[in-house]
Amino acid sequence: MLLLAPPGAGKGTQGERLAARYGVRHIAAGDLLRAEAQADTPAGREIAAHQARGDLVPDQVVLDVLTPAVVEAAARGGYILDGFPRTLPQATAAAELAARLAVTVQAAVYLYAPDTVLTRRLLDRASQGGRADDRADVIRHRLEVFTGTTGPLVPYYKERGILVAVDADQPPESVTADIQAGLSGLLLPHSRGR
Ligand code: ADP
Repeated sequence: MLLLAPPGAGKGTQGERLAARYGVRHIAAGDLLRAEAQADTPAGREIAAHQARGDLVPDQVVLDVLTPAVVEAAARGGYILDGFPRTLPQATAAAELAARLAVTVQAAVYLYAPDTVLTRRLLDRASQGGRADDRADVIRHRLEVFTGTTGPLVPYYKERGILVAVDADQPPESVTADIQAGLSGLLLPHSRGR
């Protein structure tokens, strides 16, 4: 399963809940990249610089970081990829990786909420000692990057018949319930009407 959502929509929260529910790994692209950015290596410094600005980390760098985790998770029953893909080339790479691992990408869950709601959540997180990129100017840029670059993945997955779009401007339990309702239609297509 893929989790596609703008900053502040609750990808991390929902990813963890869904992974526990379905007994698969939760792989958060942002978390793995932040961990890598701690390393004082050329790749680490490059990742840190992109994240601090709210720019996307280059596709190949992201793939190098994520692939080992995805390979391991595929061998253990599956994965929820949170925050990947975010570009069309990443979507192609995600499909190729799944095919190579004999895994089916069963769903792309899209969480949406108004920018005002997303901004408020991120600023709240910042006031509780959150992340360095939860600053008003960087938040604005991250939301623009989502709209411009990641947004086109919504029609991409809709055309492939695996999009589940859910209103993220609700309490977390309601968002999870809506996701599960949307997934039940996709994951068990043969049981419909029986
Ligand atoms: P958010 O969705 O709130 O921005 P994430 O932790 O998912 O939080 O991502 C934080 C940052 O990590 C992004 O702004 C970007 O710099 C980098 N990042 C995460 N996932 C990707 C990805 N798939 N491709 C490129 N950069 C990524």
